[in-house]
Amino acid sequence: MAVLELRPPGLYCPAGDFYIDPWRAVDRAVLTHAHADHARRGHQRYLAQRGALGVLRTRLGEVAIEGVDYGKQVRIGDANVSLHPAGHVLGSSQVRVEVRGEIWAVTGDYKLGADPTCVPFEPVRAHTLITESTFGLPVYRWLHNTQLFAQIDEWWRANAESGRPSVIHAYAFGKAQRILASVNASIGPIVCHGAVEALNRCYREAGVSLPATHLVSDIIDRRELQRALVVAPPSAQGSAWMRRFAGYSDAFASGWMQLRGARRRRGVDRGFVLSDHADWPGLNRAIEASGAQCVYATHGYAASMARYLCERGLDGRTFDTHEFDAQYGGDQDETAGSAPAVTEAVAAAEDAPAAPEAPEAPEAPERSGLVP
Ligand SMILES: [Zn+2]
Ligand SMILES: [Zn+2]
Repeated sequence: MAVLELRPPGLYCPAGDFYIDPWRAVDRAVLTHAHADHARRGHQRYLAQRGALGVLRTRLGEVAIEGVDYGKQVRIGDANVSLHPAGHVLGSSQVRVEVRGEIWAVTGDYKLGADPTCVPFEPVRAHTLITESTFGLPVYRWLHNTQLFAQIDEWWRANAESGRPSVIHAYAFGKAQRILASVNASIGPIVCHGAVEALNRCYREAGVSLPATHLVSDIIDRRELQRALVVAPPSAQGSAWMRRFAGYSDAFASGWMQLRGARRRRGVDRGFVLSDHADWPGLNRAIEASGAQCVYATHGYAASMARYLCERGLDGRTFDTHEFDAQYGGDQDETAGSAPAVTEAVAAAEDAPAAPEAPEAPEAPERSGLVP
């Protein structure tokens, strides 16, 4: 019997009678993290990493949630369950499930890159790994955090010197706080949209250090706004709220910004390639470090990822979650927007920055039948 299997409500563990990040209401849910497409209302009981509790309570209200520390083993039915750092957002976890000596690990969303706002990713050894593959194509390679934030600081400083507010659009939970914790806060004041500020509070309560932030209503001196970095969710783009920032320069921060077409469609001055998901080298490193012989890919470019793993001698498979993603997709996460077609990603390959540590790129995927 498989340790985990896909059932209509989600990923199910028969030995422990629980689900991981289920889409539909169930009795017992183990959550990888608090993004809306993973943490849904309506379950009887929840289990999550302690660091995720603040955000989960804000979003789900007073529900029955048990918080555990990373690495602590919990017995559920006949399964031993533990949570391990995923490096994605505050309290994000991989789920390790052991049943009669057979070990499966579910990565949830994860990244290997530096992020001062959450505990860094730790590989989990397993016989079978279920990995996300949101950015599972060789074109997706992220810059190192310091290089990337040097670009963002440079953009902010140049705008501040010419009296233009710098508005950066980023998901309110995770991405926004990573930006706050990584920019050079001496360049000017930082203004956050209310949706971002609500989550900043959860981060600060969890002990994560963020620079001082202001609501736009707190700023009395209009000249201050001209030097400000404004952090706002994507939904604020084009809203009346934006009118306060006369003459602003705007930017969008997302892994999809790797593709020229995606930058154009966003209609912003700048696209910063900033993702809370693993890039292609990161996915491959995590898969290798797990030691798993059988690897299921989910989300994004799962089919081409699985094929690539098969070429490398692993048992590469997919869980087809597209139907559920379409029906229940959240709005807080990069996985929520559907990935650009493989053809667009491959066409943009010459756009990718060089990544010397990357494994040898596989052949370009076929151009038909791979549109996620
Ligand atoms: Zn997520
Ligand atoms: Zn996700």
